[in-house]
This record gives sequence, structure tokens and C-alpha cells, in this order.
Amino acid sequence: MTRPVKTAIVVGAGIVGLTTACRLAEEGYAVTVIERDSGPGNGTSKGNAGQLLFDRIGAMGSASFLRGLPAALMDRSQGIRVHGLAYPSRWNWTRRFLRECTQEAWQKNTEGLLALAHLSRDAMQDFRSRHQMEIDWRRPGKLVTYATGKGLEAAARSANFQGQFGGRHEVLSYDECVSHEPALGQTERPIAGAVYLPDAEVGDCHKCCQELAGILQDKLGGAIRFKTPVTGLERDGSRVTGLRCGADVIRGDVFVLATGRATSGLLRSSFADIKPIVSILGISLTYPLGDAPPNLSVTDTSGRFVMVRLGDRLRVTGYAIFSDKLQARPADVQALQDKAQQLMPRAGAFDVAPDIWIGARPQTPDDLPMIGQAGAKNLFVNAGHGSLGWTLAFGSAEKLLRTMKTRAQTN
Ligand SMILES: Cc1cc2nc3c(=O)[nH]c(=O)nc-3n(C[C@H](O)[C@H](O)[C@H](O)COP(=O)(O)OP(=O)(O)OC[C@H]3O[C@@H](n4cnc5c(N)ncnc54)[C@H](O)[C@@H]3O)c2cc1C
Repeated sequence: MTRPVKTAIVVGAGIVGLTTACRLAEEGYAVTVIERDSGPGNGTSKGNAGQLLFDRIGAMGSASFLRGLPAALMDRSQGIRVHGLAYPSRWNWTRRFLRECTQEAWQKNTEGLLALAHLSRDAMQDFRSRHQMEIDWRRPGKLVTYATGKGLEAAARSANFQGQFGGRHEVLSYDECVSHEPALGQTERPIAGAVYLPDAEVGDCHKCCQELAGILQDKLGGAIRFKTPVTGLERDGSRVTGLRCGADVIRGDVFVLATGRATSGLLRSSFADIKPIVSILGISLTYPLGDAPPNLSVTDTSGRFVMVRLGDRLRVTGYAIFSDKLQARPADVQALQDKAQQLMPRAGAFDVAPDIWIGARPQTPDDLPMIGQAGAKNLFVNAGHGSLGWTLAFGSAEKLLRTMKTRAQTN
């Protein structure tokens, strides 16, 4: 006798929800994605920096982050600002974040991120071998530049720690940086050297969301309901029976919340593993390519911004603003463009008005996303991917699927 098909309802059509939905559909679920926006990937997944960094990532909270924070806040050129972390609604996040700022916690959280990133690299490769996707993917490598020798030495120590778990890196002098990326030859930014990551990849996360939405609906038999905000969950004892969407209730067998920064509001506060999520805003500017575009992606750590070539566009991304207000100030846009022009003057067509985008990284205190069962037998969560959701999405979907299979056997 054939088993009845189970229905899975995934809330959120960002990169995390869509990777999850596609994998659930491939595993035989009848999947419907519920999204409040009018299209796929229009939240944080839309204009991000496009970096797929599977090897040299680290948790945000660390002793050195905390030590450097007062100076970074004073130096406006770094683009770090904090609004309202002292508000009572954010105390819980701030208290828990401070606990993660020790060397031991950084190492533990970084190990967790690297394990998920490695899973993600394999899962993304597997998925792309099954489905054709046009996402401006490349593996050009990356330079992470430092203004001082001291900064470079500290970065090399972190990279050596991360290197225990796999991947490659090299420490380069400024001249070696230029031979790897000639677009840096005319730089006006201070560069003592860089950590070079030869395996770093890039791709357009928004295009990937659009491709995944197409694959889900056209190849995997799934559906997406746009312009449908979920306002609450209906429960019966230990199970969720439906999602409230205004007057409508959407029923299913299993439910996944992939709602990014909106997730804490939908989960019960009594759920033991709930993590608070705050929004850390960033701005990206997208230009046509200039006459000397970079091949490698480049992060300038002294100005805290990234320049990446995505297809025939240049994307410049910066800022870490702790705030919920999705607003880009003209002065911030200008400052980001100025830094980009100083770093690689002919990388983009800087005389053209860029596409300006502002997004909010859904940040947990330990930088690790919530992936797993979420306070009811058939309710799951996949959210809180901070500044790494594009990198971690395919692995997070895989990890969630494994958890769901284990739960299905024990429930
Ligand atoms: C400036 C910036 C640069 C970044 N650069 C990188 C990078 O280079 N590499 C990298 O790996 N990551 C990067 N990130 C992080 C990455 O973009 C995010 O981690 C990722 O997009 C999060 O995906 P998500 O699907 O969880 O969230 P989202 O894309 O925000 O998707 C959540 C979806 O849920 C929907 N939703 C929420 N609540 C409801 C509801 N109640 N009902 C219905 N729908 C709902 C939202 O409308 C949204 O579409 C960057 C982020 C920013 C802001």
C-alpha cells in the first residue's frame, strides 16, 4: 500500500524557505510556500553581497569584536551604528550576545558555522547538479584586506584556526594582492596585505530565489501563495493544525517557519530553544561594470565593505546598523560609494546612479541559526542566519530535513 502524501507548509519565500521547500518537495512532500510579499526573495535575500564563503567564516561575537567596538563606533567611516540595543525589548539579545564574546564561545560558534557551511557547499553542489540555475555563480577567490600589519597577523591567526576544519588560505603582501587582483593597483585605501581565499565563490541570491521558486512550481509540483501574511498558528495540544492568514486558515501536516527576522514573533516564547533575533541593517549599491572590474571579490576590513562582481554588475555592500528602520540615508550611500571608488577606482560605472538596497540581517546572539523542531510535534524552524544566510541556506535545508526524518521516526 502506498503511503499518503504529507503536506508541508513553509512560511517565507526567502533563500532559506525556498531551499527548504524544494528539498521537502524532492523528498515527496506536497509543498506550499506562504509569503507575505508579492514575489520570491524580496526580503533580506534580495540585494546581499553575494558571497558564498564556505571555509573562512567566523561568529560575529568575540573578545576582539567587543574590545574594538567602542573605537569602531567612534570611527564613522566603518559604518557600524547601534540604535536601541539598550531598549528593554533588546536586553535579552544583548545579554545573550555578551555571553558569546569569549574566546571559547567564538571557537565553539565558529566550529558550528563551519560545519553547517561545509554541509551547505556539498548540498548546493548536489542541488545544482540536479537542477539548472542561472545565478551568476563563479568561484573567483577572495581577498580580505587589512590596513595594518598587526591586523593582518591577527587575521592570519583566526584563519589558521578555521583552517583546522578544511579549506585553503594564504597571507599576501600588498604587491602580491595587486598581482592577484590588478584592479587594486590604483587603490587609495590603506592596504598592508590580505588573507587570500582561493576557493571563495559568489552568486546572486535573489536570482537563486527566483530560480528555486520556478523549480518548486514547475518541476517539483509545489505551490507558492504570495501576498499572504501569516498572523498566527492554530494549535491542538502538542500539534499545530493550521496557519492563520487573516480570516483564512491554511492546514497541513508539517509546518516550517523560514521567516527570517520576523520569526521570534511567530514562535511561542515558552519554546525552550528560542533565540532572540535582532536586525542588523546593511546597504548595497549595484552599478554597471566599469572599464577595470575586479575578478576577485574583495573585503576592505578597515572600511568594512565588500566589492563583488555579479555577472555584468558590480555590487558594493557595507554597514552594520543595529536598527529596525529599513532606511538608507543619502550620506551613507555617498560614503559607501566614496570608499568603493577609493579601493578600485575603475571597478564600476560610478558616474551612474546605483540601485540602492537596504536589508536586515536576522542576527541571533551566537550567530548560529535556529534549525529544528520548534515547540510542537509538527512545527519546525529554519531562521536566524545573520550575515551568512546565502552561504548557509542549502546546508540548513539539509540539516532540517535530517531532523524532520529523525522526528518522524520517533513521533
Ligand atoms: C547587507 C547584507 C549583506 C549580506 N551579504 C551576505 C553574503 O555575502 N553572503 C551570505 O551568505 N549572506 C549574506 N547576507 C545574509 C543573507 O542575505 C541573509 O542571511 C538571508 O537572506 C536570510 O534569508 P531568509 O530566507 O532567512 O530571510 P528573508 O530573505 O528575509 O526571507 C524571509 C521571508 O519570510 C517572509 N515572511 C516573514 N514573516 C512572514 C509572515 N508572517 N507571513 C508570510 N511571510 C513572512 C518575508 O516576507 C521574507 O520574504 C547579507 C545580508 C545583508 C543585509
